Amino acid sequence: MLNFTVGPVMSSASVRAIGAEQVPYFRTAEFSAVMLENEKLIKKFAKAEENARVVFLTSSGTGAMEAAVMNCFTPKDKVLVIDGGSFGHRFVELLEIHGVPYTAIHPEFGQGVTEETLRQYDDKGYTGFLVNLDETSVGVLYDIRLISDFCTRNHIFLVVDSISSFLCDEFDMKALHVQVMITGSQKALACPPGVALVVLSEEAVERVNNNRPRTMYFDLKSALKNQERGQTPFTCAVGILLQINRRLREIDAAGGVDSEVQRIGNLAKYFRERISGLPLQIISDSLPNAVTPLTPTGGVSAFDIFTTLKNEYGIWVCPNGGELRDKVFRVGHIGALTENDFDTLIEAFHDMHRLGLL
Ligand SMILES: *Cc1c(COP(=O)(O)O)cnc(C)c1O
Repeated sequence: MLNFTVGPVMSSASVRAIGAEQVPYFRTAEFSAVMLENEKLIKKFAKAEENARVVFLTSSGTGAMEAAVMNCFTPKDKVLVIDGGSFGHRFVELLEIHGVPYTAIHPEFGQGVTEETLRQYDDKGYTGFLVNLDETSVGVLYDIRLISDFCTRNHIFLVVDSISSFLCDEFDMKALHVQVMITGSQKALACPPGVALVVLSEEAVERVNNNRPRTMYFDLKSALKNQERGQTPFTCAVGILLQINRRLREIDAAGGVDSEVQRIGNLAKYFRERISGLPLQIISDSLPNAVTPLTPTGGVSAFDIFTTLKNEYGIWVCPNGGELRDKVFRVGHIGALTENDFDTLIEAFHDMHRLGLL
């Protein structure tokens, strides 16, 4: 199997080896030390401020999105949210469910937000901003500097879903005044799904501690309190947290977050340069490093291309759903992948093109 989806992705041999071991009991000093190291390395890679904190939730990424909405906002807030794809829309649904007043910004397909768009919302009393930095569903990386400037000048609490941009695109939580950053285990962290991570600035910790959300499992106050000693309120995904530790150490030893961003960026560039000549078009005015959205121009359905690759070549790419089902599929650049793997994919594309299947 060769997996070019955007999660779960391929894991390194050492991360997989941990998955084959017995899962240890976790209320121990040894496991606490692992969790504290996880926190330290995540803070380092997110470029978070000294007093920032990290909590680990046993859920998919959406759990952290919901926890952020519930713990950071109340019906007294007024939130701006970018609804540019299925993940942006998920934030909108969460705001609806939790009764937080909001305004949704709807960029055109494949487009980001502009200074002009944001200017309309200056001095309008907004208190929060939600964005999926890489809107993975369409492959658009929003301009975080623009968003950060807007939030800073309006004193707006900025929450960033970096689930597919963490370790892939440059990010400096402190410099960008991001208050909450979310990520997950199954994207560029290249571990199995099941753990969501929330990085909170000092200001965010204070906000969370003063809030009383109606939830037990997603109450970040108790998660923060427990993580002070490297523990979680409930049984955590112990095995995955050990795999995350291995992976974080590997990234650190290989030069840290900047090297990892560059490695993934180079793979994305390598792939994008080699698809010229194939009937595939990239529609995005701001590509993230994690994924390339592709529109077939030869009359073959995008979903059929996904199916043929899976069934005939043992290669997985990411199909799109809904109205984009036949128009777009995506190729991810995250996980334990090499240039050779991309050569294999490109060869399969050429083969399919010869057979009229692309
Ligand atoms: C993958 C992803 C998520 C989380 O999805 P889950 O299936 O809940 O893990 C959220 N936001 C973005 C931008 C993503 O890429």
